[in-house]
Amino acid sequence: MVKRNPHFAGLSEGYLFPEIARRRRALLEKNPDAKIISLGIGNTTEPLTPAVAQALELAARELGTADGYSGYADDSAGLSALREQIAAVLYKGRITPREITISDGAKCDIGRLQILFGGRATVCIQDPAYPVYVDGSLIAGAGGGLQYMPCRPENDFFPDLGGLKRADLIYFCSPNNPTGAAATKTQLAELVAFARQNKSIIIFDAAYSEFIVEQNLPRSIYEIPGADEVAVEVNSFSKSIGFTGVRLGWCVVPQKLKFEDGRPALPDWLRIINTLFNGASNIAQRGGLAALTPAGRRETQNLVAYYQDNAKLILEGLRQTGIQAYGGVNSPYIWAHFPGQKSWDVFEKILNEAYVVTTPGAGFGPAGESFIRFSAFGRHGDIDAAAQRLKRLKF
Ligand code: PLP
Repeated sequence: MVKRNPHFAGLSEGYLFPEIARRRRALLEKNPDAKIISLGIGNTTEPLTPAVAQALELAARELGTADGYSGYADDSAGLSALREQIAAVLYKGRITPREITISDGAKCDIGRLQILFGGRATVCIQDPAYPVYVDGSLIAGAGGGLQYMPCRPENDFFPDLGGLKRADLIYFCSPNNPTGAAATKTQLAELVAFARQNKSIIIFDAAYSEFIVEQNLPRSIYEIPGADEVAVEVNSFSKSIGFTGVRLGWCVVPQKLKFEDGRPALPDWLRIINTLFNGASNIAQRGGLAALTPAGRRETQNLVAYYQDNAKLILEGLRQTGIQAYGGVNSPYIWAHFPGQKSWDVFEKILNEAYVVTTPGAGFGPAGESFIRFSAFGRHGDIDAAAQRLKRLKF
C-alpha cells in the first residue's frame, strides 16, 4: 500500500463550511418554514455585466468556426493583449506585461506559489486569514515554520512586525478577508521595509482591490517604492466582475525579485506555469479583456457599488444593535465584534433567532474568536431583509 503524504496529518479537519451547513440543516429540520438568508460565503450572486457576457459569447462562437478556433496557447502565461491591458489599466505601467501571468484564479496561483517557494520556506500569516495560506503551506510541507500575526481592532488590524521572528514568506491580504480592513500606504510601506530588512518575500493578495473606494488607499503593493524587489502579487476577476465560476486571475512576479543566491524568481515561476498549468481558458481571457475596456471598467464599478450598498445595509443593521463592526467600506466583508462571546455561540443565536447564516470568526484563525463575518455578496432584497432581522436582535 502507498503511504499517505505526511503533510496532510498537520491539517485540521475541513470543518468550518460543512459545520455551518450542518447547523443550517438542523434549523430547517426543526423549522421547515424558516426563510433562511445566507450572508455566509464570499460567493458572487449578480449576473455578468453586458460587455463581459457579450465578449464571452463572441469568443465561444469564434471557437466554433474554422478560422476562429484555437487550442493550447503558445504561451501558458496568457494572452499578450490581456497582460498588456492589466499592466496599463490596473498597474498604470508600474509593472510590465512580462511580469504578469494569467491564471485560473488567485487561489490556484497561491497553490502554485507554494510550490515555487517549497515546503522548507518559513511562513508568517495574518490571523485571522483566508484559510488557503495556512492549509496550502501545510500541504506544501511548511509544518515547522508557521507564525501567526494577530490582526485585531487594538492594532488597527495591522500586525506588530517588531514582535516577529524572521520568516521567508509573509502572506498579506488587503482589503482583507475576513476583517474587511484595507491597509494604508504607511502600513504597507512598513511591511515592505520589514521584508527588505529581513530579506523576506511578501505574497500580497489583492483579490478585493476593486472594492477600495477611499482616496489614497493602495490597490497594489507596487504603489510602495521598492516593493518590486520583495513582493509577489496575486489578483482575480472573481469578485470584481463575477468570475467566481468562469475563473480568471493573474499573478505578478517582478523581474527584480531575487532568491538568496541572486537568481531571479520569474524564470522559475514561468517554469511552474509551463509545467503544471496549460494557461487560462481562452474564452475567460476574452471576458477579462472586455472588463478592462472603458465600458467594462464602468460596469465593474457599478457591480462593486451594488455589493457595497449591501455592505452599508448590513453595517446599519448591526449599528442599531449596538454591535461594533469593522470593514464593509473598502471591502465586501463586515467583521462584527462580540466581546466575551464565542463566535460559534453568536453564529447559533443569529441563525436561530434571525434565520441568517454568517461565518464564525474562529474559523479564520485564533484571533477571529468573538467575531462574526458578514458577507455583502447577495441580492439587495435578501440583504435588506437580513439587515431588518439583525436590527431586532439583542446581544
Ligand atoms: N483570495 C482571497 C482573499 C479570497 O477571499 C478569495 C476567494 O474568496 C480568493 C483569493 C480566491 O480567488 P479566486 O476565485 O480568483 O481563486
